[in-house]
Parts: sequence; structure tokens; C-alpha cells
Amino acid sequence: MDLSEIYQSKPQDVLGNFSPKISFEIFPPKNGDISDLFERLRILKKYNPVLISLTYGASGGFNRFSYDDLKSIRDLEFNLMPHFTCVSMIKDEIEKHITTVENLGIENILALRGDIPDYIETNELDFSHANELVEFIQAKTTLSIGVAGYPEGHIESQTLKDDIKYLKKKIDAGASAIFTQLFFDNNKLYKYIENVEKTGVKAPIIAGIMPIRSLKQIQKMTSMAKVTIPQKLAEKLEKYPNDTLKIGTEFAINQCQNLIENNVNSLHFFTLNHSDQVSEILDNIL
Ligand code: FAD
Repeated sequence: MDLSEIYQSKPQDVLGNFSPKISFEIFPPKNGDISDLFERLRILKKYNPVLISLTYGASGGFNRFSYDDLKSIRDLEFNLMPHFTCVSMIKDEIEKHITTVENLGIENILALRGDIPDYIETNELDFSHANELVEFIQAKTTLSIGVAGYPEGHIESQTLKDDIKYLKKKIDAGASAIFTQLFFDNNKLYKYIENVEKTGVKAPIIAGIMPIRSLKQIQKMTSMAKVTIPQKLAEKLEKYPNDTLKIGTEFAINQCQNLIENNVNSLHFFTLNHSDQVSEILDNIL
């Protein structure tokens, strides 16, 4: 099923009750052993995720799931959306990768340009931006394509308006769903959705939720991306450094409840490979 169909089908259960679409992002464990991750996925299965997305490290090695891993996770009967960054690959390698993914029986892919490493000259790239990758995947496969969206703008962008203009290019090239960067200020997402829709884009926008686990984690994330931490939240995290997990969980529950009340029906959790905190959040919002 196409990503837009997955997300645009009516979010109701058989009794007609409202139920948001839930999905989870996982990343390859550093030691390469995915058995623990399998356990967590089995726990998260009870929330009926519409898909599991799998990150892709530009540097390779243990930062990437192997094709065997993808097969094993698919065999747990999850709908998969592996991420893919094209920045460090030539066209032939990209074609080989996307056709292999398709031949594994996987139906979706998150098409990303990726961060450009210092050692690469931008004029050496086969694809300079993700819209070119989307066009290529669309031409070579039947994969349904998701792309990244940035409610506060991408770190390289001068203006959010530019960023939205380029987001539209990705949709026009054939992408059918937008997965957002994490955000903590829901008003920024509401404004973003309004501005994206104004350009005529109808693809679903799936809200990226990052439950806070530690101050260090959040400082790292916000140093790499344009993400505002609401002042009250920042103060609370500073004041109670031993309670970050609890504060993060409570914040995410309120954040998700507010999103649902405002008709944001699709929540994509960056699980950081943990199931405990995400389960607690979901038990409170579903
Ligand atoms: P693009 O859409 O190409 O945008 C990059 C920049 O170029 C933006 O500033 C944009 O405004 C500008 N731009 C876009 N198109 C054009 C154009 N045609 N002409 C001029 N300027 C243009 N990274 C990983 O390494 N692995 C992952 O698994 C991963 N998963 C992610 C998941 C999500 C949900 C998100 C939001 C990001 C993820 N990233 C991941 C990070 C991503 O790779 C970086 O943010 C990267 O710098 C940009 O990738 P992109 O696909 O958004 O690029």
C-alpha cells in the first residue's frame, strides 16, 4: 500500500473510535546484535504500528542494517520503511541498493540526501538534493517514497520558505509522505502544516516525536538541527537533572495529546531503540 494511503485511510478502529496512526523509528545497535531490538519490537507490536522505519548511517558498517537484518525484521510482519541517504554513493550503487530493497519485498523507502561530509565536494555528487533521488527511485522502482520535512527549517536553509519550496519539489518528483524532524513546540508544526498545504502539497505530514531521555541527548540533537526547546521545558530539565526521563515522558504525553486534539493523526516515534518510555507514552494517549 502506498504511504499516502496508509496515512490517509480513516484513523478509526472497527468500533468507529478515533485512533491515531503510530509508527516507530529504530537504528542499528552499535554491537551489530539485533536480538535485543527484536524483543523491543515485539513489545511495541501491540500498538499496531503502521510501519517501522530504519535509519541508515552514511558511514556504513554497524550504522546500517544489513539486508539480512531487513529480511528478519520484515519477517516479524512489520511494514518497513528503510531510510536511505544518497550522499556518499554513485548512481550505479544507488540503483543496486534500491532494487535490492524492492526485491526483499519491502514497499517503502525514506529518500534522503544526507549530511554532506567535509571531504566531499558538492559538485562531485551524482545527486545534489533529495528531489533528484526521489525522481530516480520513482523511475527505477515501485517503492512508495517518504521524504524528510523540517518544521523549523533545515540547518542549511536561509529561510523556512525556501525549505518548503524544496519540499514541494520532492513531492512533485513522486514522494507521497513527509516525515518531520523532531520538534517540541507544537505551534511550529501547526504553522508548518499550514504553510506546506498553502503550496498545494496534499501529502500527509507525519509528526516526528522524540521522547527526551537525557539532557545530553537533547543537547546533542539541538546542536545538530534547528529545534527549539520551550523555555519552561528547558528550565525543568536543568533544575531536575535526575528526573529527565520522567519529565521527558510527561512532556511527550502532553505533546501527543495536544497534537491529537489538533487533528494531527500520525505520530512517528524516534524510539532510540527503547520500548519502555514509548510504551508508557502510548498507554497514556491511546
Ligand atoms: P534535501 O531535501 O536535499 O535538503 C537539504 C537542504 O538543501 C535543505 O536546506 C533544502 O532546503 C535544500 N534543498 C533541497 N532541495 C534543493 C534544491 N533542489 N535546490 C537547492 N536547495 C535545495 N540522516 C541520515 O544520515 N540517516 C538517516 O537515517 C536519517 N533519517 C532521517 C529521518 C528524518 C525523519 C529526518 C527529518 C532526517 C533524517 N536524516 C537522516 C537527516 C538528513 O539526512 C539530513 O537532514 C540531511 O542534511 C538532509 O537530507 P534531506 O533529504 O532532507 O535533504
